[in-house]
Amino acid sequence: MAGNNNTLRGKNIHTFMVSFPGQGHVNPLLRLGRRLAALGALVTFCAPEAAGASIRKNNSITDDSRPTPCGRGAIRFQFFDDDWDFNSPSCDDFRAYLAQMEAAGREKLPELIHKEAEAGRPVSCLINNPFIPWVSDVAESLSIPNAVLWIQSCACFSAYYHYHNGLVPFPTAQEPEMDVQLPRMPLLRHDEFPDFLHPRSPYVFLRDAILGQFRNLTIPSCVLMDTLDEIERDNIEYMSRVIGRPIRTVGPLCKELDLESECKALRADFFKAEDCIEWLDSKPPRLVVYISFGSVVHLRQEQVDEIANGLAESEVSFLWVVRPLPREKNWKPHVLPDGFLDMVGERGRIVQWSPQEEVLAHLSMACFMTHCGWNSTMEVLASGVPVMAFPQWGDQVTNAKFMVDVFKVGLRMCRGEVEGRVVPRDEVASVLEAVVRGPRAKEIRANALKWKKAAETAVAERGSSYMNMQCFVEEVASFDLVPN
Ligand code: UDP
Repeated sequence: MAGNNNTLRGKNIHTFMVSFPGQGHVNPLLRLGRRLAALGALVTFCAPEAAGASIRKNNSITDDSRPTPCGRGAIRFQFFDDDWDFNSPSCDDFRAYLAQMEAAGREKLPELIHKEAEAGRPVSCLINNPFIPWVSDVAESLSIPNAVLWIQSCACFSAYYHYHNGLVPFPTAQEPEMDVQLPRMPLLRHDEFPDFLHPRSPYVFLRDAILGQFRNLTIPSCVLMDTLDEIERDNIEYMSRVIGRPIRTVGPLCKELDLESECKALRADFFKAEDCIEWLDSKPPRLVVYISFGSVVHLRQEQVDEIANGLAESEVSFLWVVRPLPREKNWKPHVLPDGFLDMVGERGRIVQWSPQEEVLAHLSMACFMTHCGWNSTMEVLASGVPVMAFPQWGDQVTNAKFMVDVFKVGLRMCRGEVEGRVVPRDEVASVLEAVVRGPRAKEIRANALKWKKAAETAVAERGSSYMNMQCFVEEVASFDLVPN
């Protein structure tokens, strides 16, 4: 650890983070790692090899365990083999994968943690994100303090908590259109709460995966959340009281810190980010619409056609992420309409993956057509860019509701996959026009800038998220370490 001193108040801090191998899980946890390292911790970022292979390949990481200096601390990767066969015919059976990862993780994590102790780096705290609640059990069995990083909004946390504990009525097969009233929240319509909780959801396996954490909520000493007090204060205070442990808001974790370039460049993308910044540089301010549906959503081909034709009609410049297909999915790759690329020429750029935070921070941004994943939501709020909300499922529908009706930073394009509707090209073009130039455009941009400012204040010295992070680190430093 040359040049680094992973101590806080004279104590060595080693936070061992375990991530579910999804892009939306890895990004916020790694960002939290960067912050903890900046404050003086040694951070080991651990995930199954399924993620390791993509992360190494797409981010030019040649030596996982080499610590990258970050502020007063450092970050290193450590991947474990989850023994999953990605070539087997049932490789996209999510339930089976979760069970396999758990079996492998319960055996391998304690071994890795013992090795750290033997090497003189005993683990001070285990931090995990959702879908892998068994990490809390591992922490408990080794008497290591545990914290969970919740990577969605507090609104969604509350919805899952109230559902899991049967505290408020949710729609049933008999009453599918019932609205949901959660404490300290606006009324959510039947298609506005996290829809894994709806009886019609085809994603029951994801509901079960996420609720697992709520069965284990008595183990973590606190819940860290990638959100900020300024956008959901009442709800955060309320839920902290309800769960009987602190909810510490530490977001937006995507906000850049003043760190060494090597640490800033440390990414864990599952796809190679294409350089599109030079192209954005060539565009005038506020004239480019950025389009991305995150790392999982796969739109119907008809919808892709309509978006393309809507863009062609609107004559704006656009940067559009059209992702390659995941290897385990049996989907058809998207194709763009015949002649589309020739027609739009230099006005449009298609990439397979972008450096999204950099893109959103670029002066050329006019608006973001987003599927409203929580990371994308925090990233766009932190950038002050107006939104075209195109949610599909899960928490995306709730995030869209908040962005449009509560934060008022954009307009809605659809209500989610459940609508079963293809948004036609003229609607794509008219919503785009309305967000960028319509009568409400000024108000929307002013709101977006207001939240950007709030995000900056939250992470700046003495801001709410900054103070919560300090508090968490002090807490970790205060734990009496047992040899693990
Ligand atoms: N992302 C990116 N480049 C892209 C598309 C997405 O870096 O071209 C990142 C994005 O910045 C975000 C994450 O991938 O951090 C996606 O997470 P989100 O919660 O928005 O959606 P999910 O993929 O989990 O549905």
